[in-house]
Amino acid sequence: MSHGLQRVELRRGRLALHPWQWKLWCERKVVIAYVLAVNFVALALAAAIIIAMPIRSGDLVRFGLLVAAAVVHREVVHRIDSLRERTTGNGLLTNLSPLWIFAAALSVPLPLVVGLTGVVHLHSWYRGSAGRLNRKVFSAATMVLAPAAAVAVLQLLQPAAYPIVPRGPAGLVVLIGAGAVFWLVNYALVVGAVIMSDPLQPGRQVLGNPSDQIVVAASLGLGVGFAVTLAVSPWLIAVLMITVFALHRALLLPHFQQAARTDSKTGLLTAGFWREAAGRELERARRLADPLGVLMLDLDHFKSFNDRMGHLVGDQVLRAVADELRSQTRPYDLVGRFGGEEFVILLSGVGTAQVEDIADRIRERISQLRVLVDSPHDRPATVDGISISIGAAVRPNDGDDIDHLLLAADGALLAAKAAGRDRVRLATR
Ligand code: GH3
Ligand code: MG
Ligand code: MG
Repeated sequence: MSHGLQRVELRRGRLALHPWQWKLWCERKVVIAYVLAVNFVALALAAAIIIAMPIRSGDLVRFGLLVAAAVVHREVVHRIDSLRERTTGNGLLTNLSPLWIFAAALSVPLPLVVGLTGVVHLHSWYRGSAGRLNRKVFSAATMVLAPAAAVAVLQLLQPAAYPIVPRGPAGLVVLIGAGAVFWLVNYALVVGAVIMSDPLQPGRQVLGNPSDQIVVAASLGLGVGFAVTLAVSPWLIAVLMITVFALHRALLLPHFQQAARTDSKTGLLTAGFWREAAGRELERARRLADPLGVLMLDLDHFKSFNDRMGHLVGDQVLRAVADELRSQTRPYDLVGRFGGEEFVILLSGVGTAQVEDIADRIRERISQLRVLVDSPHDRPATVDGISISIGAAVRPNDGDDIDHLLLAADGALLAAKAAGRDRVRLATR
């Protein structure tokens, strides 16, 4: 019995820890080449900047204050940001930290901007889990290229005299231009990587949520605020820090809580959130002495399907299956993606009498699915003959807490697989 539970837990653990270590190397070759090329160009540029451009000792005070403020910022928002890193699947960075880099671009010469990028990313890598280095390096590369481009625009205003405090309408125009260039370079580099990693994903997903870009605009605006304060009365940046913390909480926390709830590939609930919500639902069922059903579903022979059709087609099938699961359940049922091609459904108020019918209807609908898929090289094709095995458990017969119900449903799922797949099995006590 504990074996099954460990299996369930192990899978959840794998799901939470997985991606970072190997992700780049499992990407398509064009993505690997693109990311390495961006990293290389940024590194070469950084080296050239550090060698060729002078800094003055006066710049170091502003640099020191920016480093301190950026590190304090990161330490204070650490929890919110680690939630972000766990949840944003496609790597569109929504974050207030560009504010420090943009502030630096206005306050100190480029070698120190590059230095700040290095410090900020090393620190955030050190504070995160080790495996994410690859992602940090790409993010650092964008944060070398974006400020370099912005500084090129700022030079129109005032060649190489720091701090740059834009004045008058012309100053405003140049400043907005520099901000726009900073944003555009960063955004284009990230979107490029996202498109290459999955050319078939919908445009909306590639371009990200417009509200993400509002966060970036807010951070650039704050960057200007910091730069001007730093130029006029450096210690007053402590006051602006309050705004940064407040904004971080107000803007980003709800955003990432939402992201933490939804699986980016299928739009279903994530395993972690499913479990939380299922716990609440179970509590309610106990209080009202209601029955409750749990289904564990796993696509049949999906590995060989991927091997034949490719992962991108596999992903489209996963999405179609997820949509079907949603449409075959009631709005208040909880449909989650439990692992790769495993799903879990909590059916409120459903007891032994109905659970098998519901599960079998779902199985039947999945077997009738015809999915129009697109693959990058071939013409659109229709995929059918998808089958799924389902294990079902009900409260209170098979358990009264979520672990025992999952365990029972998982055991039933294994039995359904063993019995030949494409079928439903109920947990037996
Ligand atoms: P069966 O369940 O019938 O025993 O066989 P299976 O081949 O489906 O075995 P299993 O459930 O262990 O395989 C999981 C496979 O699902 C491995 C991997 O190729 C595929 N998979 C997992 N996650 C994803 C994903 O996000 N996208 C795609 N395309 N495939 C995935
Ligand atoms: Mg399977
Ligand atoms: Mg599986």
